[in-house]
Amino acid sequence: MQKRILVTQSSMPPIEEYIEEIKELWDSRWLTNMGKKHMQLVSELCSIFQVPYTALFTNGHLALEACVNVMNLKGEVITTPYTFVSTTHAISRNNLIPVFCDISPDTYTIDANKIEELITPKTSAILAVHVYGNICDVTKIQEIADRHHLKVIYDAAHAFNETYEGKSIASFGDASMFSFHATKVFHTIEGGAISTSDKRLYENLCCWRNFGFRKEGRIDEIGANAKMNEFQAAMGLCNLRHLDMEIALRKAVVEQYNKNLQGLEGVKLPTVQKGLTHNYAYYPVIFEKELLGISRNDIADELKKHGIYPRKYFYPLTSNFSCYQKNTFVNHTPVAEHIADSVLTLPLYAHLPLETVDKISMIITDIVRGKKC
Ligand SMILES: *Cc1c(COP(=O)(O)O)cnc(C)c1O
Repeated sequence: MQKRILVTQSSMPPIEEYIEEIKELWDSRWLTNMGKKHMQLVSELCSIFQVPYTALFTNGHLALEACVNVMNLKGEVITTPYTFVSTTHAISRNNLIPVFCDISPDTYTIDANKIEELITPKTSAILAVHVYGNICDVTKIQEIADRHHLKVIYDAAHAFNETYEGKSIASFGDASMFSFHATKVFHTIEGGAISTSDKRLYENLCCWRNFGFRKEGRIDEIGANAKMNEFQAAMGLCNLRHLDMEIALRKAVVEQYNKNLQGLEGVKLPTVQKGLTHNYAYYPVIFEKELLGISRNDIADELKKHGIYPRKYFYPLTSNFSCYQKNTFVNHTPVAEHIADSVLTLPLYAHLPLETVDKISMIITDIVRGKKC
Protein backbone atom coordinates (compact mmCIF):
# COMPACT_ATOMS: atom_id res chain seq x y z
CA MET A 1 0.00 0.00 0.00
CA GLN A 2 1.08 3.51 -0.78
CA LYS A 3 2.33 5.35 2.30
CA ARG A 4 -0.12 8.02 3.42
CA ILE A 5 1.19 11.55 3.71
CA LEU A 6 -0.43 13.26 6.69
CA VAL A 7 -0.48 16.97 7.38
CA THR A 8 2.12 16.61 10.11
CA GLN A 9 4.56 14.22 11.73
CA SER A 10 6.27 14.71 15.08
CA SER A 11 10.00 15.37 15.15
CA MET A 12 11.91 13.35 17.72
CA PRO A 13 15.45 13.54 19.06
CA PRO A 14 17.76 10.54 18.55
CA ILE A 15 16.53 7.86 20.97
CA GLU A 16 19.95 7.65 22.67
CA GLU A 17 19.79 11.33 23.48
CA TYR A 18 16.41 10.97 25.17
CA ILE A 19 17.53 7.91 27.13
CA GLU A 20 20.59 9.82 28.33
CA GLU A 21 18.34 12.71 29.39
CA ILE A 22 15.94 10.56 31.44
CA LYS A 23 18.61 8.24 32.96
CA GLU A 24 19.04 10.25 36.14
CA LEU A 25 15.33 9.98 36.87
CA TRP A 26 16.03 6.35 37.82
CA ASP A 27 18.45 7.63 40.46
CA SER A 28 16.49 10.59 41.74
CA ARG A 29 13.07 8.87 41.62
CA TRP A 30 11.65 12.40 41.22
CA LEU A 31 9.23 12.06 38.32
CA THR A 32 7.00 15.13 38.54
CA ASN A 33 6.18 18.11 40.82
CA MET A 34 8.63 20.66 39.48
CA GLY A 35 11.74 18.47 39.41
CA LYS A 36 15.16 19.20 37.97
CA LYS A 37 14.21 18.76 34.29
CA HIS A 38 11.15 20.94 34.77
CA MET A 39 13.20 23.76 36.30
CA GLN A 40 15.90 23.47 33.64
CA LEU A 41 13.30 23.75 30.88
CA VAL A 42 11.75 26.80 32.60
CA SER A 43 15.10 28.54 32.59
CA GLU A 44 15.80 27.77 28.91
CA LEU A 45 12.32 28.91 27.89
CA CYS A 46 12.54 32.17 29.88
CA SER A 47 15.58 33.01 27.79
CA ILE A 48 13.83 32.21 24.48
CA PHE A 49 10.70 34.06 25.60
CA GLN A 50 12.64 37.07 26.97
CA VAL A 51 10.40 37.14 30.05
CA PRO A 52 11.15 36.70 33.76
CA TYR A 53 8.44 34.06 34.30
CA THR A 54 7.37 30.90 32.49
CA ALA A 55 4.86 28.50 34.07
CA LEU A 56 4.89 25.01 32.56
CA PHE A 57 1.75 22.93 32.22
CA THR A 58 0.86 19.40 31.18
CA ASN A 59 -0.75 20.79 28.02
CA GLY A 60 -1.44 24.10 26.33
CA HIS A 61 -5.17 24.07 26.84
CA LEU A 62 -4.98 23.85 30.63
CA ALA A 63 -2.34 26.58 30.59
CA LEU A 64 -4.76 28.87 28.78
CA GLU A 65 -7.70 27.90 30.97
CA ALA A 66 -5.60 28.55 34.07
CA CYS A 67 -4.45 31.92 32.76
CA VAL A 68 -7.99 33.13 32.06
CA ASN A 69 -9.05 31.79 35.48
CA VAL A 70 -6.38 33.42 37.64
CA MET A 71 -6.83 36.80 35.95
CA ASN A 72 -10.27 36.91 37.59
CA LEU A 73 -11.95 38.22 34.46
CA LYS A 74 -15.65 39.05 34.35
CA GLY A 75 -18.28 39.24 31.63
CA GLU A 76 -17.14 39.25 28.02
CA VAL A 77 -13.89 38.42 26.27
CA ILE A 78 -13.28 39.58 22.70
CA THR A 79 -11.70 36.79 20.67
CA THR A 80 -11.49 35.22 17.24
CA PRO A 81 -13.61 32.36 15.88
CA TYR A 82 -10.76 31.45 13.50
CA THR A 83 -8.77 29.27 15.89
CA PHE A 84 -8.50 25.85 17.42
CA VAL A 85 -11.51 25.25 19.65
CA SER A 86 -9.30 25.26 22.76
CA THR A 87 -9.20 29.09 22.69
CA THR A 88 -12.99 29.45 22.85
CA HIS A 89 -13.36 26.63 25.39
CA ALA A 90 -10.84 28.34 27.70
CA ILE A 91 -13.15 31.38 27.82
CA SER A 92 -16.44 29.49 28.17
CA ARG A 93 -15.17 27.02 30.76
CA ASN A 94 -14.40 30.04 32.96
CA ASN A 95 -18.06 31.16 32.68
CA LEU A 96 -17.14 34.09 30.46
CA ILE A 97 -18.81 34.99 27.20
CA PRO A 98 -16.74 34.82 24.00
CA VAL A 99 -17.49 37.76 21.70
CA PHE A 100 -16.32 36.91 18.20
CA CYS A 101 -14.45 39.52 16.19
CA ASP A 102 -13.73 39.12 12.48
CA ILE A 103 -10.22 38.49 11.15
CA SER A 104 -7.82 40.18 8.79
CA PRO A 105 -7.91 38.69 5.25
CA ASP A 106 -4.11 38.80 5.04
CA THR A 107 -2.88 37.36 8.34
CA TYR A 108 -6.06 35.50 9.46
CA THR A 109 -5.51 36.96 12.95
CA ILE A 110 -8.09 39.10 14.79
CA ASP A 111 -8.82 42.34 12.88
CA ALA A 112 -7.66 44.99 15.34
CA ASN A 113 -9.74 47.61 13.49
CA LYS A 114 -12.93 45.76 14.43
CA ILE A 115 -12.24 45.20 18.14
CA GLU A 116 -13.32 48.56 19.54
CA GLU A 117 -16.88 48.39 18.16
CA LEU A 118 -17.37 45.16 20.15
CA ILE A 119 -16.31 46.61 23.50
CA THR A 120 -19.13 47.01 26.04
CA PRO A 121 -19.10 47.86 29.77
CA LYS A 122 -18.91 44.08 30.35
CA THR A 123 -15.72 43.52 28.34
CA SER A 124 -12.75 42.51 30.50
CA ALA A 125 -10.16 41.10 28.10
CA ILE A 126 -8.98 40.42 24.57
CA LEU A 127 -7.89 36.86 23.81
CA ALA A 128 -6.19 36.97 20.41
CA VAL A 129 -4.43 34.19 18.47
CA HIS A 130 -1.22 34.30 16.41
CA VAL A 131 -2.64 32.13 13.62
CA TYR A 132 -0.16 29.87 11.71
CA GLY A 133 2.64 31.90 13.24
CA ASN A 134 1.31 35.10 11.63
CA ILE A 135 1.17 37.58 14.45
CA CYS A 136 -1.63 39.85 15.59
CA ASP A 137 -1.35 43.62 15.40
CA VAL A 138 0.22 43.61 18.86
CA THR A 139 0.78 47.38 18.91
CA LYS A 140 -2.78 48.35 18.07
CA ILE A 141 -4.25 45.70 20.39
CA GLN A 142 -2.19 47.05 23.31
CA GLU A 143 -3.34 50.61 22.55
CA ILE A 144 -6.99 49.51 22.61
CA ALA A 145 -6.47 47.53 25.80
CA ASP A 146 -4.79 50.47 27.54
CA ARG A 147 -7.56 52.84 26.47
CA HIS A 148 -10.30 50.56 27.83
CA HIS A 149 -8.42 48.93 30.74
CA LEU A 150 -8.58 45.42 29.31
CA LYS A 151 -6.27 42.46 29.84
CA VAL A 152 -4.55 41.01 26.76
CA ILE A 153 -3.84 37.30 26.45
CA TYR A 154 -2.29 35.76 23.36
CA ASP A 155 -2.86 32.19 22.28
CA ALA A 156 0.64 31.79 20.86
CA ALA A 157 0.37 28.04 20.31
CA HIS A 158 1.49 28.56 16.69
CA ALA A 159 4.19 31.13 17.35
CA PHE A 160 6.95 29.38 19.30
CA ASN A 161 10.41 30.95 18.92
CA GLU A 162 9.16 33.88 16.83
CA THR A 163 10.39 37.43 17.23
CA TYR A 164 8.79 40.67 16.06
CA GLU A 165 11.15 43.61 15.52
CA GLY A 166 13.71 41.80 17.61
CA LYS A 167 11.38 41.13 20.56
CA SER A 168 10.17 37.66 21.47
CA ILE A 169 6.51 37.20 20.60
CA ALA A 170 6.12 35.80 24.14
CA SER A 171 6.76 39.23 25.62
CA PHE A 172 3.63 40.98 24.28
CA GLY A 173 0.36 41.43 26.20
CA ASP A 174 -0.19 40.43 29.83
CA ALA A 175 0.53 36.77 29.07
CA SER A 176 1.01 34.35 26.18
CA MET A 177 0.14 30.67 25.99
CA PHE A 178 2.33 28.22 24.11
CA SER A 179 1.40 24.64 23.27
CA PHE A 180 4.07 21.94 23.22
CA HIS A 181 1.79 19.30 21.77
CA ALA A 182 3.42 16.58 19.67
CA THR A 183 2.29 18.28 16.46
CA LYS A 184 3.86 21.66 17.17
CA VAL A 185 7.22 23.06 16.01
CA PHE A 186 8.62 22.44 19.49
CA HIS A 187 7.07 19.76 21.67
CA THR A 188 7.22 17.99 25.02
CA ILE A 189 4.91 15.16 23.79
CA GLU A 190 2.02 16.99 25.48
CA GLY A 191 2.76 20.25 27.22
CA GLY A 192 2.27 23.97 27.39
CA ALA A 193 3.37 27.18 29.08
CA ILE A 194 2.36 30.69 30.01
CA SER A 195 4.97 33.41 29.58
CA THR A 196 4.54 36.62 31.53
CA SER A 197 6.34 39.52 33.20
CA ASP A 198 3.76 39.64 35.99
CA LYS A 199 5.08 37.92 39.13
CA ARG A 200 1.69 37.67 40.82
CA LEU A 201 0.12 36.14 37.75
CA TYR A 202 2.97 33.60 37.62
CA GLU A 203 2.55 32.70 41.29
CA ASN A 204 -1.20 32.28 40.86
CA LEU A 205 -0.65 30.03 37.85
CA CYS A 206 1.73 27.87 39.90
CA CYS A 207 -0.96 27.50 42.59
CA TRP A 208 -3.70 26.70 40.07
CA ARG A 209 -1.72 23.90 38.42
CA ASN A 210 -1.01 22.27 41.81
CA PHE A 211 -4.49 22.01 43.37
CA GLY A 212 -4.36 25.58 44.63
CA PHE A 213 -1.58 24.93 47.16
CA ARG A 214 0.17 28.19 48.03
CA LYS A 215 2.38 26.32 50.41
CA GLU A 216 1.95 23.17 52.43
CA GLY A 217 -1.39 23.19 54.19
CA ARG A 218 -2.64 26.44 52.65
CA ILE A 219 -5.16 26.77 49.84
CA ASP A 220 -6.84 30.14 49.16
CA GLU A 221 -8.14 29.46 45.68
CA ILE A 222 -9.67 26.40 43.99
CA GLY A 223 -7.09 24.86 41.68
CA ALA A 224 -6.62 21.82 39.49
CA ASN A 225 -3.79 19.49 38.56
CA ALA A 226 -1.90 20.44 35.43
CA LYS A 227 1.79 20.02 36.19
CA MET A 228 4.34 19.11 33.53
CA ASN A 229 6.17 15.91 34.46
CA GLU A 230 9.89 15.15 34.18
CA PHE A 231 9.61 12.91 31.12
CA GLN A 232 7.81 15.67 29.23
CA ALA A 233 10.38 18.24 30.32
CA ALA A 234 13.23 15.89 29.31
CA MET A 235 11.74 15.57 25.81
CA GLY A 236 11.59 19.37 25.67
CA LEU A 237 15.26 19.73 26.69
CA CYS A 238 16.25 17.32 23.89
CA ASN A 239 14.04 18.95 21.27
CA LEU A 240 15.34 22.44 22.11
CA ARG A 241 18.84 21.31 21.07
CA HIS A 242 17.48 20.56 17.58
CA LEU A 243 15.20 23.59 17.26
CA ASP A 244 17.32 25.54 14.76
CA MET A 245 17.55 22.51 12.46
CA GLU A 246 13.82 21.82 12.87
CA ILE A 247 12.96 25.33 11.71
CA ALA A 248 15.55 25.32 8.90
CA LEU A 249 14.15 22.06 7.47
CA ARG A 250 10.59 23.40 7.68
CA LYS A 251 11.71 26.57 5.92
CA ALA A 252 13.11 24.51 3.04
CA VAL A 253 9.75 22.75 2.64
CA VAL A 254 7.91 26.08 2.67
CA GLU A 255 10.27 27.56 0.07
CA GLN A 256 9.76 24.52 -2.16
CA TYR A 257 5.97 24.92 -1.99
CA ASN A 258 6.32 28.66 -2.67
CA LYS A 259 8.51 27.99 -5.71
CA ASN A 260 6.16 25.33 -7.10
CA LEU A 261 2.82 27.01 -6.46
CA GLN A 262 3.53 30.70 -7.09
CA GLY A 263 1.62 32.47 -9.83
CA LEU A 264 -1.45 30.20 -9.89
CA GLU A 265 -4.49 32.44 -10.21
CA GLY A 266 -7.02 31.96 -7.41
CA VAL A 267 -4.45 30.28 -5.16
CA LYS A 268 -3.18 32.42 -2.28
CA LEU A 269 0.05 31.32 -0.61
CA PRO A 270 1.24 32.28 2.87
CA THR A 271 3.61 35.24 3.24
CA VAL A 272 5.83 36.40 6.10
CA GLN A 273 4.97 39.71 7.78
CA LYS A 274 7.56 42.50 7.86
CA GLY A 275 9.70 42.46 11.00
CA LEU A 276 8.79 38.89 11.90
CA THR A 277 11.13 35.91 12.15
CA HIS A 278 8.77 33.07 11.30
CA ASN A 279 8.83 29.49 12.57
CA TYR A 280 7.26 27.89 9.47
CA ALA A 281 4.73 25.98 11.56
CA TYR A 282 2.01 25.68 8.89
CA TYR A 283 1.45 26.04 5.16
CA PRO A 284 -2.09 27.38 4.72
CA VAL A 285 -3.29 27.86 1.14
CA ILE A 286 -6.47 29.73 0.22
CA PHE A 287 -8.32 28.36 -2.81
CA GLU A 288 -10.69 30.99 -4.19
CA LYS A 289 -13.70 29.06 -5.49
CA GLU A 290 -15.03 32.06 -7.43
CA LEU A 291 -11.85 32.25 -9.49
CA LEU A 292 -11.08 28.53 -9.76
CA GLY A 293 -14.51 27.10 -10.45
CA ILE A 294 -13.69 24.32 -7.99
CA SER A 295 -13.76 24.37 -4.23
CA ARG A 296 -11.25 23.70 -1.48
CA ASN A 297 -13.18 20.47 -0.82
CA ASP A 298 -12.68 19.29 -4.43
CA ILE A 299 -8.94 19.84 -4.08
CA ALA A 300 -8.84 18.00 -0.73
CA ASP A 301 -10.73 15.05 -2.28
CA GLU A 302 -8.34 14.86 -5.22
CA LEU A 303 -5.29 14.91 -2.92
CA LYS A 304 -6.82 12.13 -0.82
CA LYS A 305 -7.09 9.94 -3.92
CA HIS A 306 -3.29 10.18 -4.05
CA GLY A 307 -2.89 9.30 -0.36
CA ILE A 308 -2.25 12.92 0.68
CA TYR A 309 -4.15 14.24 3.68
CA PRO A 310 -4.10 18.01 4.08
CA ARG A 311 -6.29 19.53 6.80
CA LYS A 312 -9.21 21.93 6.70
CA TYR A 313 -7.59 23.91 9.49
CA PHE A 314 -9.43 25.88 10.80
CA TYR A 315 -12.82 24.64 9.73
CA PRO A 316 -15.47 25.12 10.98
CA LEU A 317 -15.17 28.40 12.88
CA THR A 318 -15.40 27.71 16.61
CA SER A 319 -18.53 29.90 16.70
CA ASN A 320 -20.18 27.37 14.36
CA PHE A 321 -19.73 24.35 16.63
CA SER A 322 -23.12 23.37 18.00
CA CYS A 323 -21.95 23.97 21.59
CA TYR A 324 -21.51 27.67 20.72
CA GLN A 325 -24.67 28.12 18.67
CA LYS A 326 -26.61 28.90 21.87
CA ASN A 327 -24.31 31.84 22.40
CA THR A 328 -26.36 35.02 21.95
CA PHE A 329 -23.19 36.92 21.11
CA VAL A 330 -22.34 35.02 17.92
CA ASN A 331 -21.35 37.90 15.68
CA HIS A 332 -21.25 37.99 11.93
CA THR A 333 -17.66 37.33 10.83
CA PRO A 334 -17.76 37.13 7.01
CA VAL A 335 -14.00 37.20 6.42
CA ALA A 336 -13.45 34.34 8.86
CA GLU A 337 -16.31 32.38 7.25
CA HIS A 338 -14.74 32.78 3.83
CA ILE A 339 -11.24 31.78 4.95
CA ALA A 340 -12.57 28.73 6.85
CA ASP A 341 -14.39 27.63 3.68
CA SER A 342 -11.37 28.18 1.42
CA VAL A 343 -8.32 27.06 3.40
CA LEU A 344 -6.34 23.89 3.13
CA THR A 345 -3.27 23.39 5.30
CA LEU A 346 -0.77 21.35 3.30
CA PRO A 347 1.55 18.67 4.74
CA LEU A 348 4.54 20.33 6.43
CA TYR A 349 7.08 18.78 8.76
CA ALA A 350 10.84 18.81 9.09
CA HIS A 351 11.50 15.52 7.32
CA LEU A 352 8.92 15.80 4.56
CA PRO A 353 10.94 14.95 1.42
CA LEU A 354 11.11 17.77 -1.13
CA GLU A 355 10.12 15.25 -3.83
CA THR A 356 6.86 14.73 -1.95
CA VAL A 357 6.37 18.50 -1.87
CA ASP A 358 6.89 18.48 -5.65
CA LYS A 359 4.33 15.70 -6.05
CA ILE A 360 1.73 17.49 -3.91
CA SER A 361 2.39 20.75 -5.79
CA MET A 362 2.02 18.97 -9.13
CA ILE A 363 -1.32 17.45 -8.20
CA ILE A 364 -2.62 20.85 -7.06
CA THR A 365 -1.28 22.60 -10.19
CA ASP A 366 -2.94 20.00 -12.42
CA ILE A 367 -6.33 20.33 -10.74
CA VAL A 368 -6.20 24.10 -10.73
CA ARG A 369 -5.22 24.22 -14.40
CA GLY A 370 -8.22 22.00 -15.12
CA LYS A 371 -6.47 18.87 -16.35
CA LYS A 372 -8.22 16.59 -13.90
CA CYS A 373 -11.66 18.14 -13.51
C1 LIG B 1 -2.53 23.24 19.83
C2 LIG B 1 -3.36 24.44 20.12
C3 LIG B 1 -3.98 24.65 21.37
C4 LIG B 1 -4.04 23.60 22.45
O1 LIG B 1 -2.84 23.16 22.90
P1 LIG B 1 -2.71 21.68 23.53
O2 LIG B 1 -1.29 21.66 23.99
O3 LIG B 1 -2.98 20.69 22.44
O4 LIG B 1 -3.67 21.56 24.66
C5 LIG B 1 -4.63 25.84 21.58
N1 LIG B 1 -4.72 26.79 20.63
C6 LIG B 1 -4.18 26.62 19.42
C7 LIG B 1 -4.29 27.72 18.40
C8 LIG B 1 -3.50 25.43 19.10
O5 LIG B 1 -3.00 25.26 17.88
